[in-house]
Amino acid sequence: MSATNSHVIILVGAGPAGMAVASSLAKAGHEVIILNRDIKFGGLAEYGIFPAKLKLRGGLKKQYWDMLEQPNVHYFGNVSIGKGKDLTVEDVRALGASAVVFAIGAQGTKAIGVEGDSAMGVFHAKDVVYHFNRLPGFGDRPFEMGKHVGIIGAGDVMVDIAHWLIRYKKVERVTAIVRRGPAERKYNPKEIRAVCANMDLEGITQEVARIKDRLAAVGQNAEEVLNGLINEFTKCEPKISDTKMGFKFLASPKRILVDANNRVRGLEMEDNKLEPKGDDTAAVGLKQYYEFPCDAVVFAVGDKVDETVGLPYKSGMFVTNPNKTNNDPDDALFQAYDETTGKIVDGVFLAGWARKASEGLVGIAKRDGDWCAEVVNRYLSTTASGTHSSAKVVLDKLASILKAHKSHPVDVKGLRVLESIEKCHHGATDCIGEFKYSSNQEMIRLIEQGKA
Ligand SMILES: Cc1cc2nc3c(=O)[nH]c(=O)nc-3n(C[C@H](O)[C@H](O)[C@H](O)COP(=O)(O)OP(=O)(O)OC[C@H]3O[C@@H](n4cnc5c(N)ncnc54)[C@H](O)[C@@H]3O)c2cc1C
Repeated sequence: MSATNSHVIILVGAGPAGMAVASSLAKAGHEVIILNRDIKFGGLAEYGIFPAKLKLRGGLKKQYWDMLEQPNVHYFGNVSIGKGKDLTVEDVRALGASAVVFAIGAQGTKAIGVEGDSAMGVFHAKDVVYHFNRLPGFGDRPFEMGKHVGIIGAGDVMVDIAHWLIRYKKVERVTAIVRRGPAERKYNPKEIRAVCANMDLEGITQEVARIKDRLAAVGQNAEEVLNGLINEFTKCEPKISDTKMGFKFLASPKRILVDANNRVRGLEMEDNKLEPKGDDTAAVGLKQYYEFPCDAVVFAVGDKVDETVGLPYKSGMFVTNPNKTNNDPDDALFQAYDETTGKIVDGVFLAGWARKASEGLVGIAKRDGDWCAEVVNRYLSTTASGTHSSAKVVLDKLASILKAHKSHPVDVKGLRVLESIEKCHHGATDCIGEFKYSSNQEMIRLIEQGKA
C-alpha cells in the first residue's frame, strides 16, 4: 500500500485478537497505535493461559515482539479506556484516527446469581487465573481455598483451576460440579492430562452409578459413559500431590451456605435430569435439594464484557450491527452499533472476546482479528486518508491527554527494560512458569530506573 493510502488506526487491547488486527493493518502499511490496559501485551496469553505452558506462551510472545517492533506500530501499555480511566471511548474517537478497534476481551464475570455468592471463599475463575498468572492487582491478593474446593463448570478453565489447586496449592479435594452429565463435558481431553493422575476413580465410578437411571432416560448407557470419561485419563502428568479429584454430575448450585463468619461451608445443590434438546441435551431441575460441603467455590462458567467501558452494551455483550452485509467476512459482525440511534458507530469496530465472550482458544481469537482487519481495510478503502489526522497529530494529542491525566504509559523500550530485569530473577521465585512483578508501580519504577 502506498503512503498516500495509509491511515492511522487505534487498536484498544493487545491480546491475541488485537495483536492479529494490528499485525494485518501494520502489514497493509497503516500506522497502528495500540492502547492496552496492562503494561504487558498478550492479554490472556500472558495472564490467562496456564503459566506452565511455556512453549505456547513463548511462541506467542515472540510473534508479538516482532510485530511491536515495526516502525509503524506504536505501543502504549498501562493505558485503560473507559469512564474515569486514562481516556474515555469519546476521547479515543476524538483523537482523529480513521478507525478504532476495540479488542479488549471479556473482562466482566458471569455469575449464575445464587444467594450468598459474595461470601468469603467464593471466587470467579478469571480472578483465580489472574492470581496465579500474577496480573497486577491479583498476584498478591490472598486466595484462601481451604481443603475442599468445588469448581462449577466442565470446560478447559475448570481444568486449569483444578491444575493449580492440585499441583500447586495441593488442597485435599477438588470436585468439578457439572450441570449435565459426563457425556456433556466440555474440556479438551488433552488438558485433563495435567490432573488425571489425581482422579478418585472409585468415587467417580460411584457418582456415575448414582445417576445411571437419569442417563438411561435419555438413552445414555452409564457404563459406556463412564468408560468414555475415564479412558481419557491417559498420559497423565506424574502425580505430585495427594489431592483427590472427583465430579458431581447433574447438579446445579442454588445457594452458597455460609458459617457465622460468612465463610463458605458448602452449597445447596439441586439434582437435575437430562432432557433431549435437538441433537443435544438440556439440564432440568428436579426440585430435590441436598447439601454439598466444601470450603471454597470457584465459578468457571464463562465471561462477559465490561459494560462500564462506554461502548453500546446489551445482555453481557457489546452490541454489533444486526443488519447483515453481503460481504465475507460480514462487516456487520464487527461494527459497533448504537441501538438508541439505530446506527452503526462510525469507524468503531470490535474483535475477539470483546465481540464474542469466551469464544474459543487463541487461534480463534487470532482468526477473528484477521477477519476484523479485512473489514477495517474495506472500510478504509472507502475513506480518503487525508480526511483524518496524521500519525504525528494523533500521537501528539494522545501524549498531551495522557500527560494531563498524569497517566504512565509504557512503550516497547520500557517493556524491553522490564523483560531484562524480570529475566534476571529466573528461578528466584515461587510463581509458576516465569518471574513477574505483580504491581504496576514496581514495574514502572524499575522501567524508569532502567531507562535512565
Ligand atoms: C483461564 C484461561 C485459560 C486459557 N488457556 C488457553 C490455552 O491453554 N490455549 C489457548 O489457545 N487459549 C487459551 N485460552 C483462550 C485465550 O486466552 C483467548 O482465546 C484469547 O486470549 C482471547 O483474546 P482477546 O484478544 O479477545 O482477549 P484478551 O486475551 O482478554 O485480551 C484483551 C486485552 O485488552 C486489554 N484491555 C482490557 N480492557 C481494556 C480497557 N478497558 N482498555 C484498554 N485495554 C483493555 C487487556 O489488557 C488485554 O491485553 C484461555 C482462556 C482462559 C480464560
